[in-house]
Amino acid sequence: MKLPLAYLGLGVALTLGACIHRSDDARSPEVPALPLQTPLQAGQAPIVALGNTIHVGADVAPQADALPQAALHGDARVFHGSVQDGVGAAELIAYLEADSTLPQSGEEEYGMPPDTIIEAPLLRFRADPPTVYVADGTPPALVDETVRAVQAINAALPQDWQLGFSHDPATADNIGSPEGKILVRFALQIEWPRGIGSPTGKDVGVALPTYRAVPTGDPEAPVRFEIVAGRVFVDHTQTKGLERLGVIAHELIHLLGRNHVDAARFPETIMVDGGSEELTEHILHLLDREALLTVYGRLEPGTVPGDFATELGGWADTSLHVRGAIDIEDGEISFGAALRNGLSQPWATGPSPDTALEDNNALSGSVSWSGRLLGLTPGAETVGGAAALSVDLATLAGTADFTALEQWAADAAPGALGTGTMWHDGDLSYGIEVRGNTFVQTGGDAGTVTGAFFGPAHEGMGGVLERDDLSAGFGGKR
Ligand SMILES: [Zn+2]
Repeated sequence: MKLPLAYLGLGVALTLGACIHRSDDARSPEVPALPLQTPLQAGQAPIVALGNTIHVGADVAPQADALPQAALHGDARVFHGSVQDGVGAAELIAYLEADSTLPQSGEEEYGMPPDTIIEAPLLRFRADPPTVYVADGTPPALVDETVRAVQAINAALPQDWQLGFSHDPATADNIGSPEGKILVRFALQIEWPRGIGSPTGKDVGVALPTYRAVPTGDPEAPVRFEIVAGRVFVDHTQTKGLERLGVIAHELIHLLGRNHVDAARFPETIMVDGGSEELTEHILHLLDREALLTVYGRLEPGTVPGDFATELGGWADTSLHVRGAIDIEDGEISFGAALRNGLSQPWATGPSPDTALEDNNALSGSVSWSGRLLGLTPGAETVGGAAALSVDLATLAGTADFTALEQWAADAAPGALGTGTMWHDGDLSYGIEVRGNTFVQTGGDAGTVTGAFFGPAHEGMGGVLERDDLSAGFGGKR
């Protein structure tokens, strides 16, 4: 993207340029089948198929041998401890500086001396999170991909900065006043707005931000710019699979303020021109996730690069983890939560089933699974409890109940069952519905439950519970 001179505090408005994502990559693997996500599931945690396993939640699970065992909770071995798994302040600051710096771009265009480095305040969306709309008529498979991209982005953002997703497609009525909204449209490049995209027709995505000037009170740079709305165009015929998921996320993250950085210096981010060579089923890389958390969870709007180090002060590169593991026939279910820099992220992983739950002919009537929950509060207290899932196969509806919830002191390893103190009133209850091999919450206590069935014949289940005051993974056996 081209930044307007006004954005640099020079007081001249120029046309705001588009940012183009190009693709020459023909090696996109297909994403394995999971139930199609609709806008109704946009608030759920991501569910990712990783070959023989299904992963629920953020990509934060520690290595199996990274933590010491702390306790045994029923069938679950419980592990607790810290792992150095973040990018660290130095690398994050280098990335944000590269994002905020326009290397030599002023030379010809703005008549600046060679090697001029211009530093601009970190660009971001306005104070409240946008709502994403897909264009009317978007096919379900592309709505699914847009929802998945939003789920991946939301898994990296603080609870109070989750992107919304309109249950209805965009219409003249609901998008007529575009502020606070992001419109995503899938269209051939020749159908994009005039003048956008390269004449070769090889562009696959573009983000078109709408900016607003915000007074700063600083006479040297009287205004800064923030993004208040935006449009995304993706030529879905020129990309597919994981790459297309990455393109959608890349363009959405542009509208959240991030620019391109040099692919040689920062290979593990999707925010490089032309798209990252490194594709991940989790869509976002670690650096992408930490940058989102920094901008929307830590830095004040308008922070200039010179202040990054001060404002990031105690930015940690280690996470506190709690992890549970339950053996099932032919594999292991593991689950837990990771807390780093104030963001507690839950996860659960297990072997993929062979069929959808409703196609498992060995099961009938009401089916139950029981196991354990383990999570972390924002204050680093471990919470543990019993987890029970029940599904009526006739209706594919059921309940997820978490009982005997107890907590242990901040940063302390959890002890044996019954050695903690009661967490809140000790239990949480949710209604759920089954979608293929996954389940999502339909009601109940505050919070969001997202899960999957594990094992060839659904011998296990697991998932995540996300609340303001608790992020927890859970798992159990039939
Ligand atoms: Zn781009």
